[in-house]
Amino acid sequence: MNSADTEIVKSLLRKEHNLVESPDEADLVFLNTCSVRDNAERKIHERIIHLRQYRRNRKNMFVGILGCMAERLRERLVGERDMVRLVVGPDEYRKLPELIEEAARENKSGIAVELSTVETYEDIEPLRTDGISAFISIMRGCNNFCSYCVVPYTRGRERSRTAQTVIDETARLVAQGFREISLLGQNVNSYKSSDGFDFPELLVRLAENHPEIRFRFTTSHPKDFGEKLIDAMASHANICKHLHLPVQSGSSRLLELMNRRYTAEQYIAKIDLLRSKIPNIALSTDIIAGYPGETEDDHRATLELMKTVKYDGAFMFKYSPREGTKSYKIGDTVSDEEKIRRLNEIIDLQQNIAFEKNQLEIGKIHSVMVENVSRRSEADWKGRTDTNKKVVFPVPADMAIAEGDVFNVKILSAGSTTLKGEMCD
Ligand code: SF4
Repeated sequence: MNSADTEIVKSLLRKEHNLVESPDEADLVFLNTCSVRDNAERKIHERIIHLRQYRRNRKNMFVGILGCMAERLRERLVGERDMVRLVVGPDEYRKLPELIEEAARENKSGIAVELSTVETYEDIEPLRTDGISAFISIMRGCNNFCSYCVVPYTRGRERSRTAQTVIDETARLVAQGFREISLLGQNVNSYKSSDGFDFPELLVRLAENHPEIRFRFTTSHPKDFGEKLIDAMASHANICKHLHLPVQSGSSRLLELMNRRYTAEQYIAKIDLLRSKIPNIALSTDIIAGYPGETEDDHRATLELMKTVKYDGAFMFKYSPREGTKSYKIGDTVSDEEKIRRLNEIIDLQQNIAFEKNQLEIGKIHSVMVENVSRRSEADWKGRTDTNKKVVFPVPADMAIAEGDVFNVKILSAGSTTLKGEMCD
């Protein structure tokens, strides 16, 4: 979401400003920030310190903080390390040109952190610079108020773009040569446009308009994920057979404390339905270790759910208290040592599951969309299956190949994160 927002910001600034790639060349550096975990914020404070060195050559260089951290910390960020002069929240990017001008002209600082109930930036064409994959934000904000999550406070309430602007933007991207489009929202399942589309309807329209393009989406909330979307995925070959469905915990008791509004049993029932209609679907998830009040039994329930679902991938983190959220008030009741132990068990289990699942891919032929040359060897290229698995395979030196090309690749070996194969007919 932040990458997509950065493209919007670049688009808003490109008319009046020269965008440069390195802080060496910059008079103003923007950091687009995330507040979802403490670690993400810590990195930004470190980055601000790091950027001070560029003042040696550019005495007037200053920093602007964008995104969720700007929204959360507001004036507390202004003046940090004598570097930060602009603090602009995710719904205020249209003010950036004016704020920059004032800051540069009058040597002032500026803050804009109002949240909006209507801003979607649907009329702004994001400035996308490279690659074959494009993001389209179809909605912003979140109404779910999971007890641990700061997003509803930093990104505001849910609002959806009109379907027509998404349909038009997709057509322009296809004409520009993009081969894969990811639709983004904090909870795409609650997309509801003023021109009458829900999310499955929008996805089907896009997939049918552009059968040669791969469509992905993220993120789905399990409580809103349903059969209509499963049917849309099952009936369109170009809607990728990968679903990210964050479970967070395998304990229904804990899920209730987290205000997730589904039980572990309901979650598993949705996975069963999904697999009955799309047997080859790949699944990924998010898991939090050590949420306040999590017992050893709750932790074991998470491990059991992982064994039942058998995810292909997972983002796994220890709980990080976020000021202003409901769970922040409860306090961080699981010790850091215990959180780390549980997290390590979760990571170990997931690696084993992913490794075992990937062994089942050996001998299968996948349609792989090429992304770029492998970092390890120039003779190898890297791409993804529609199930979002990374595949590395050799390409003959005299063969012309480009990002976005699609090849059949037979899988020859597999680790827990990468498959290796060879091109075949
Ligand atoms: S659904 Fe829950 S975890 Fe996801 S952004 Fe909304 S509040 Fe946060």
